[in-house]
Amino acid sequence: MKEVLTNPTAGYYMNRDVFGQTGDFITSPEISQMFGELIAVWLVNEWTKCGRPTPFQIAELGPGRGTLMADILRVFSKFKIAGSDFSVSLVEVSPYLAQVQEKQLGPRQAQEDTKLPQGSQHYKQSISFYGSQVRWYNHIADLPRTFTLFLAHEFFDALPIHKLVKVDQGWREVLIDLNREDLTLRFVISRDRTPACLYRLDNESREELEVSPQSLIITQAMAARIHQDGGIGLVIDYGHEGDKTDTFRGFKNHKLHDPLVDPGTADLTADVDFSALKWAATHPRTFEDWKANLTFGTVDQKDFLTRVGINLRLEQLLASCRDEDVALNLKSAHKMLTDPMEMGSKFKFLALYPSVMEKILERYPPPGFV
Ligand code: SAH
Repeated sequence: MKEVLTNPTAGYYMNRDVFGQTGDFITSPEISQMFGELIAVWLVNEWTKCGRPTPFQIAELGPGRGTLMADILRVFSKFKIAGSDFSVSLVEVSPYLAQVQEKQLGPRQAQEDTKLPQGSQHYKQSISFYGSQVRWYNHIADLPRTFTLFLAHEFFDALPIHKLVKVDQGWREVLIDLNREDLTLRFVISRDRTPACLYRLDNESREELEVSPQSLIITQAMAARIHQDGGIGLVIDYGHEGDKTDTFRGFKNHKLHDPLVDPGTADLTADVDFSALKWAATHPRTFEDWKANLTFGTVDQKDFLTRVGINLRLEQLLASCRDEDVALNLKSAHKMLTDPMEMGSKFKFLALYPSVMEKILERYPPPGFV
């Protein structure tokens, strides 16, 4: 999965725009500006609850075309959050998508790594339309140490998983093998235990499951930063609470695609195990003396967006809309984002807070989650 998606030369994400009508799939921020606007207002509200610390950064993992961040920066500027108060940090492996994001977010051409000061952790930098620094990073660990609003939309579902199955002898891993007769790929069960079988599987009632160690490591890194430097995390994705078994699949031209056929030409994805992310967010790898972070959710996208005011936003946009086609598009976008039969209940929201905020959150719980 890692090779197929992010191999530097042939990886699915590395040299093309895969989103939208002409791509393989469409995501919520691409469907309507309402999505990013509501998330922006939520972030401003929660940052205010923390005492509006500055300078701070907004860090997005896997920003795609940069549409969500562009909508957020526009809203932030309306709240006069712009300029040097804060910076934008993007964690992106794909040089092609980093270029798309650069055009989306600012007027100037970015400085590439050859022109950056020696020892820079980022590989590219530019200035946003609203005067803030935008920097691109390969890994979450490279981000500057400061108060951070973390965002991950449809990021964790792209991280590699291991498939495990219970057989008579115990847990085994499902591996991918080459069928020598016709040179096709096929799933096989490992003869013995593999390192992935060391995953915590006590009390596991499922006979088959998917684990994503990389997702756990990234969540732990995010949680450690939130604890140490202050911050909030918002993770949005399709997923489950540790009860699904087999969700690994491919997408090509908006249709399901066998992941073992023509690898590299289709998106590969697996549902996010939010119960595992919550475990990682509250169990640091270094056993320092710190109380676990707090998690809220998951809640369904429909509930989150409705509670933070998507119906009101739709009304406002419709009231100032003169074009009938645009009005129809707004209504159908609203339906697509919130209808349980579309994206409304498939997508879930999870929030992370540092434990020092416990008392404040008891009085003022995170909007959208209650
Ligand atoms: N958030 C966007 C894009 C989702 S697609 C949206 O919702 O529209 C997944 C994104 O994560 C892409 O930008 C992809 O290049 C990036 N990505 C995938 N694997 C990554 C990894 N290991 N590290 C950093 N970015 C990654």
